[in-house]
Amino acid sequence: MIRLGVDLGGTKTEIIALDERRTELLRRREATPAGDYDAIIALLVRLVRETEMEVGKRGSVGVGTPGALSPATGRIRNSNSACLNGRSLKSDLERALGREIRLANDANCFALSEATDGAARVSPVAFGVILGTGVGGGVVVNGQVVGGASAIAGEWGHNALPWPRAEELPGPRCYCGKTGCIETFLSGPGLAADHLAVTGEQLAAEAIAARAATNEAASQTLARYESRLARGLASVINVLDPHVIVLGGGLSNIDRLYTNVPKLLREWVFSDVVETRLVRNYHGDSSGVRGAALLWEN
Ligand SMILES: [Zn+2]
Repeated sequence: MIRLGVDLGGTKTEIIALDERRTELLRRREATPAGDYDAIIALLVRLVRETEMEVGKRGSVGVGTPGALSPATGRIRNSNSACLNGRSLKSDLERALGREIRLANDANCFALSEATDGAARVSPVAFGVILGTGVGGGVVVNGQVVGGASAIAGEWGHNALPWPRAEELPGPRCYCGKTGCIETFLSGPGLAADHLAVTGEQLAAEAIAARAATNEAASQTLARYESRLARGLASVINVLDPHVIVLGGGLSNIDRLYTNVPKLLREWVFSDVVETRLVRNYHGDSSGVRGAALLWEN
C-alpha cells in the first residue's frame, strides 16, 4: 500500500507518494486556485488520480490544510485560505474520491513528519512550529498527533504575545479579529511590518535576515523577533514542557534563532533548567506533505 499526502496551501498545493519504507516515489506541486473551492476539490482529485496512475498503485490519502475541521459542524474553520472556511472539505473530498481520507491541520502534519523520522524522532513530546506566512503549531506525543477536544491543540499563533513590553501594546490587528496575536509578530509579514515601523525601510523577511549579519538595524529587528519568539515558546514550554521544539516555515532558515533563542528562554520558563531543545526541521519544505501522507502511518 502506498500513502499519498497532499499539502493544500494558500498559494500552492503539493502531492507526494510514499512507499512502505516512507521513500518518496513522486512529488508534484501546482498553484492553488485562488478563492475557488470547487476548483480546489477538482485539483485535489486530479492530483490523486494522476499520481496513482503514474506510480501504478492505489494509495491512502491524507490531506494537510490550514485551519481544521470543527468537531461541531464537520466544516473547516480558522483557515487563512478563507474559501475553505465553512466547507465540508473532508466529506466533499471523500465523495469525489470514493474513499475515506484523513485530514489534519498543516502544522500538525509538519509536527508528525518531524516526530516520525525527522528532527524530533525519538522525542516523546514534540512541538512543531510553523513560522511562515502565518504561525501555527502542532503537538505530537509518542508518535501520535494530539488533535485535542476542539481540534485546536498547538494553535498558539492566536494567543496574545506573552509578557508584552509597553511598545508592543496593543499590538497589530490580526485577521482573526484580535490584536497583538503571536502571529502578527512572528510571521514573515509580521517581521517585515516591525522592521518597517521601526526603520521606515520596506524589506521582506528573507531580506532582513540576509542583511542582519552586516546591518545593525536589521540585526536589531531580528533581536526583537528573537525576544518575542522566546516569550512565545516559553509560554508553550510552561504548559507542555516538550522535549523538542522543531521550527519550520520560511523563517526557520534563520540560523541565529537556534543559538540566540535558547539563551533567552531561561528568563521566561518557570524552571531552574530548560531541557527543551530548539531545532531546525529535517525534511525542509517537504515536511508538511510527508506528514499528510503519514496520517495513515498508524
Ligand atoms: Zn489572531
